[in-house]
Amino acid sequence: MSYVVTAPSPVCVPVLGMSATFAVHRIYCVGRNYEDHAKEMGQTGREAPFFFMKPADAVLVAPAGQTAAMPYPTLTHNLHHEIELVVAIGTGGSHIKAADAHQHIYGYAVGLDMTRRDLQNDMKKMGRSWCIAKGFDHSAPIGTITPAAQVPQIEQAGIYLQVNGQDRQRSVVSKMIWNIAETIEQLSAAWALQPGDLIYTGTPEGVGAVVRGDILEGGVDGLAPIRVRVE
Ligand code: MN
Repeated sequence: MSYVVTAPSPVCVPVLGMSATFAVHRIYCVGRNYEDHAKEMGQTGREAPFFFMKPADAVLVAPAGQTAAMPYPTLTHNLHHEIELVVAIGTGGSHIKAADAHQHIYGYAVGLDMTRRDLQNDMKKMGRSWCIAKGFDHSAPIGTITPAAQVPQIEQAGIYLQVNGQDRQRSVVSKMIWNIAETIEQLSAAWALQPGDLIYTGTPEGVGAVVRGDILEGGVDGLAPIRVRVE
């Protein structure tokens, strides 16, 4: 096959204990999926899940044991961290029932849904798309993927983020409003899931700003932690 432009390289995330990698197809994100985060964003109660996307090449790989460099993005003065559990889809499908959802999961990773919060607030006020706030380059740091069978208790795991060694976010995955299976059911009704899809499942309360030089360290119990330096 020849191309008239330079063909993009596949975006790949490392997998624990394997030389083969996870090739990324799409990145889906769930909005406001922890009640106390929904409240801090001005919402109340349980709303139907809603989704947005980031481009696959927004991934910033932060392999286990390494510190990934994230360039501070343009156009913002309020770059926020959102620590999230990421579900890596292994088998695709449409209209997947929650009861069958776990058969479609390859594994899990720790991710950051980095957000230009000032631009997001501007877009919300104007009723415009969040793209520029959520889908920018390097906006999706992700750690090494752990195969699902190695983390059977993932829905009870703690989730946390520290900035420069200080706690910013600390919760448990069980506090998600829509759990992993329900999220897959709802998401796969809207899009046909494909192998290689990543789902950022939402962030708990405690989101806040980071600046150049900050070290972000985040984790979910049982998964390789993520470490990112804002440059
Ligand atoms: Mn998020």
